[in-house]
Amino acid sequence: MLIHRFTLLGLILLSMTIEAKQTAPKNIIFLIGDGMGPAYTTAYRYYADNPDTAKVETTIFDTLLVGSASTYPDDDTVVTDSAAAATALATGHKTYNGAVGINRQKQKLTSILKMAKSRGYNTGIVVTSELSHATPAGFVAHSASRKNKYDIAKQFYTQQQNGKPIVDLMLGGGTKYFNKELTLGKRTKTVTKWLKNSGYQYISSLDELNKLQTLPAIGLFAEEGLPPAINSTQPNRLSMMTEAALRVLDNADQPFFLMIEASQIDWCGHANDISCAMAEMEDFAKTLTKVKHYVDNSKNSLMVATADHSTGGLSLGYNKVYQWNAGVVKQIHATSKSIAEKLEGSKSIATDWHKFIDFSLDESEERSLAAVINDKDEIKDVVRQIIINRTKTGWTTKGHDAVDVQVFAAGTGAKAFRGFQDNTDISRKLNYYIINGE
Ligand code: MG
Ligand code: ZN
Repeated sequence: MLIHRFTLLGLILLSMTIEAKQTAPKNIIFLIGDGMGPAYTTAYRYYADNPDTAKVETTIFDTLLVGSASTYPDDDTVVTDSAAAATALATGHKTYNGAVGINRQKQKLTSILKMAKSRGYNTGIVVTSELSHATPAGFVAHSASRKNKYDIAKQFYTQQQNGKPIVDLMLGGGTKYFNKELTLGKRTKTVTKWLKNSGYQYISSLDELNKLQTLPAIGLFAEEGLPPAINSTQPNRLSMMTEAALRVLDNADQPFFLMIEASQIDWCGHANDISCAMAEMEDFAKTLTKVKHYVDNSKNSLMVATADHSTGGLSLGYNKVYQWNAGVVKQIHATSKSIAEKLEGSKSIATDWHKFIDFSLDESEERSLAAVINDKDEIKDVVRQIIINRTKTGWTTKGHDAVDVQVFAAGTGAKAFRGFQDNTDISRKLNYYIINGE
């Protein structure tokens, strides 16, 4: 089976050789929706639908869809975590759950970002999690565990090519890790300070994105992850960061490799919070639309998008009812977690409820909330259950599941991503373009 897979990949790469000669892309934009299994893009289609027309309008995901990918890790679990999946997508090699940029034998694996850097590309990473989180870490660092977030942050400085850090543009969260004094050799400094000493421009607010003109640069916009889109005053933060990244990388007039992650779709999935997930999907859809516009207007660029795995066992339909209520999903304006925090100890539950949710509680819902109103964890579970019942959204796990993910692509060389493939194949095809392009 293994031989068969590699033979097939060999054939794909051979046909890519012929294509690459004429059509290897100059710029590569690789987007990852963390946790975004097929049920999420379907849910988003109903969520984004114009209810005034009978037809369900297609989304940017539908426009870009070209194939699918398996995601199993190199252990016997079948269900991958984000670190093993990031390693597969970044290096073309499978590893065990929790590992970052190393295989099961603890050998370091070369990422396509590092490969691109060594070939003279400019490189960028844009995420809504902390930059030291598993997915971006897979493109930069090597660590036996994704939990080593301080060490991973340090590697954003120490992983270098020709005396310079390998990532020219870093946008996301993570001041907790990047602005803490860490020891490197005899010196103790923050990663941010080391980067500034290497010439990086530093910004700390999304409003400063327009100040970014040249590389290298780092923008840190939160202590850890950025606020969830549904709670945020700047819900389109991924799309804002992406726009700035494309502008700066395009200005630099050199080929570039840019990795963009919609990090928090997964976090909403873990919380079994459908409105939270749809708000993240909205930001990701806007991001994809911007990237597609860039690719359409640039002579020689490729965009490829996928997910690292699906989260939550999301189903659109629940408890034998043949219905899914996207309209109700849109009536919820905060995460279940923050609604629970705000409702804790409430003396007027019905009124406080309406600060976040448009539909009114029925008597039994209000009674079940009143029964737990002094315990925010229990409130969260009750809020979650009310939303599940009202929207008819099913969840089978608070973790990941093993369904295949979708692959989306457009631009120069997009054809190579058609059909079924493994997650490692996506990385190998991109790597092939990086090596044979230009
Ligand atoms: Mg992630
Ligand atoms: Zn996850």
